[in-house]
Amino acid sequence: MDMKSTDIEKIVRQVLENLGSKEAVPKKRSVQDIPDRARVAMLTRAEHFDIQEYPIPEVGDDDILVKVEGCGVCGTDAHEFKRDPFSLIPVVLGHEGTGEIVKMGKNVKKDSAGKPLAVGDKVVTCMIFKDNPDITMFDLNKQNVGGADVYGLLPDDDKHLNGWFSDYIFIRGGSTVFNVSDLDLDSRILIEPCAVLVHAVERAKSTGILRFNSRVVVQGCGPIGLICIAVLRTMGTENIVALDGEDKRLEFAKRMGATEVVNFKNYKGIEALAEAVREAFGGHGADFAFQCTGSPAAHSNIYKFIRNGGGLCELGFFINGGDATINPHFDICSKEITTVGSWVYTLRDYCTTFDFLKRAKGIGLPLEKLITHRFPLDKINEALETNLKMEGLKIAIVNE
Ligand SMILES: [Zn+2]
Repeated sequence: MDMKSTDIEKIVRQVLENLGSKEAVPKKRSVQDIPDRARVAMLTRAEHFDIQEYPIPEVGDDDILVKVEGCGVCGTDAHEFKRDPFSLIPVVLGHEGTGEIVKMGKNVKKDSAGKPLAVGDKVVTCMIFKDNPDITMFDLNKQNVGGADVYGLLPDDDKHLNGWFSDYIFIRGGSTVFNVSDLDLDSRILIEPCAVLVHAVERAKSTGILRFNSRVVVQGCGPIGLICIAVLRTMGTENIVALDGEDKRLEFAKRMGATEVVNFKNYKGIEALAEAVREAFGGHGADFAFQCTGSPAAHSNIYKFIRNGGGLCELGFFINGGDATINPHFDICSKEITTVGSWVYTLRDYCTTFDFLKRAKGIGLPLEKLITHRFPLDKINEALETNLKMEGLKIAIVNE
């Protein structure tokens, strides 16, 4: 084939240009791109964020400066926004965030899982490590990170850039940070809530009851229940019945992999509802159930769907939602039900979550559709109000 050298040059240039435009190739930034000051959304009183500007702190040898790309709004943020139950005000919230490293200290070479780290890499944080020997990276039996300090739930201090609802976040030496450059922005925003479900399913597996072809009930189809279905699907669980009171959410549950759905509002009384669930399983009780709502009545109900010798994972009560009534004889004792509780996640679950997100995409689960609303940082009050109105599923702050 005869090809002029000018043609080849043209083709090579074209190929290089195309490569450069791909999202997967991180744009390396230079120090000059970093401004002196950064905006944060400071919660200064209940139901009110102020957009404030602070100087970007000096990046020490162990620190990392990250330009924030986006951050999901969590139920925890909504609680804190509404009433300040954690007494954090003034505080920069946002813990489901991700962004790009723009500067890092000379001692920072790897992320918390041992992956190399460089300026231009996309990262997430998990918790601030405090030399707690009970929290280690790869021991599943060690305690989860609930109650540990995380960026986005730290009271304001002299650094100010402590949460992901901001332009830049200042990651101090000793924090956990993970290189997730191989995930797109939507997936990265969903890492934190997905880790909650990876952990719950790991807890469920510890009972020995949840198996490849188990019949599984997922009660509650908010983001947590929907992600629960997705995690089960990526594990090969095919027989999932989803329960909720809203048809729209149940539709989504089907797209996420539920085989049958039951709207509890269509049934009067728990007996009729339990029968509907049994019918959805072709006349069988569930082998395993995931309780993903914060409703005490829902907790009381769920035992009725489970077969003798089955299992239950309760993960809906992220915060205190009050007492629930059960009948110890009928619900647990005579049925010999094994129950596990699940809260937050371990560091190892975080790494499993990165793989889960790729696998979910691989089998075509529309996880990114969970993000129903996107707001810029200066519309954060509106974003939280939307969350409180329970409109949509996942709400995210996305910086341009
Ligand atoms: Zn969260």
